[in-house]
Amino acid sequence: MHCVWCGGAFTVDPGPGRPARYCRRSHRQRAYEARREAARRGLRPDEVVLNRHTWERLRDALYRLEAAAQDVALDLGSGRPTKADYVEALGYLAAAVRDLQEVAVEPTAMSG
Ligand SMILES: [Zn+2]
Repeated sequence: MHCVWCGGAFTVDPGPGRPARYCRRSHRQRAYEARREAARRGLRPDEVVLNRHTWERLRDALYRLEAAAQDVALDLGSGRPTKADYVEALGYLAAAVRDLQEVAVEPTAMSG
């Protein structure tokens, strides 16, 4: 099962009652608040509101990842890359992925 709020995987306790949709109580609460804000703003189901800081961090991290992927493709695509070249390239890509993972994407408003 994946949490409706954060997308993280979690195990569901088999038992009576509705199956859990959130990995933790705080995520259920945040999703509730985001739905309430979406209703207040009259958002359509396909619309999500992010604050500007989150949006800019996400956009910049995606840009860095794309640039890193292009650099790695160029570096490894020319000549005969060595094992050290691959190790360096993977390290570069991993750093760009970590940047992206550090962006906490939590909508201010979202239906669902
Ligand atoms: Zn969650």
